[in-house]
Amino acid sequence: MIRLFLFLSLILFVGCTHHLPDFTSRMSTRLPTESTPQAIGEYALGCLQGAQTFTGQEKGIILSQVKRGRYWGHPDLIQLLTQAGEETYKKRMSLIVGDLSQSRGGPTITGHNSHQTGLDVDVWFKMPSIKEKLSLRTIETEDMKPIASLSADQIKMIQFFTRDPRVERIFINPGFKKYLCSDSAVYKLSSEDHHKLRAWYGHDDHIHVRLKCPSDSPLCISQKPIPEGDGCDKNLDWWFTEEAKEGEADISWEELKKIYLSKVEKLPTQCSFYHEIF
Ligand SMILES: [Zn+2]
Repeated sequence: MIRLFLFLSLILFVGCTHHLPDFTSRMSTRLPTESTPQAIGEYALGCLQGAQTFTGQEKGIILSQVKRGRYWGHPDLIQLLTQAGEETYKKRMSLIVGDLSQSRGGPTITGHNSHQTGLDVDVWFKMPSIKEKLSLRTIETEDMKPIASLSADQIKMIQFFTRDPRVERIFINPGFKKYLCSDSAVYKLSSEDHHKLRAWYGHDDHIHVRLKCPSDSPLCISQKPIPEGDGCDKNLDWWFTEEAKEGEADISWEELKKIYLSKVEKLPTQCSFYHEIF
């Protein structure tokens, strides 16, 4: 059924049916455009031109879920993660980097609403010791168990991102946000750190770091600013209500397909390269 849908979506959006049907693998192996880097459109409705990726030589970086092909980003993001990896390595640990964007950004049928412009990345809480000497430089995060609490090192890693001026906001699980707001946190964040750190659905085992629109990207559309304050106020309580839990309900494949197709259709015209699969 999924294959059928992918086949149909190719006919719809590419107008070409050669070399089918592995749409997802095509999407994950195609190359970025050879143009100057630029984030185009909105975080949840846009694309990425001239994407960059890691060289594989970065200290302290472990890429996860590489098969998904979502390790492309705007140069600001690659640079930030490279620096974060170096910082982590100084503490004899590694940083697990999850999805960034596809090579040309844009919507994906699974996994994310945003991550479309090369400015979003998932960074895992778990930071393996470099002594663990992982045989591969990659890891499948699906195999990892969710963590129950945050260590001082993990909180300092979050702080590294909150303090970077390129970072616009960070999403974290409401339970962890509440813990970090409380006096029982093993390492206290400042209210400035907390300002950028916002509760959101999911994110049980990772944070989602979002960058500001880069200066080289005039077509990048900024998000509404974060409300003032540290986010430790009564708005945080809402996340623990029944109403909030309802918002977390699973979406069916049918729904996902509908959302994906409408997003592809609504992409900014400057994102036409997203459709060039062949
Ligand atoms: Zn994310």
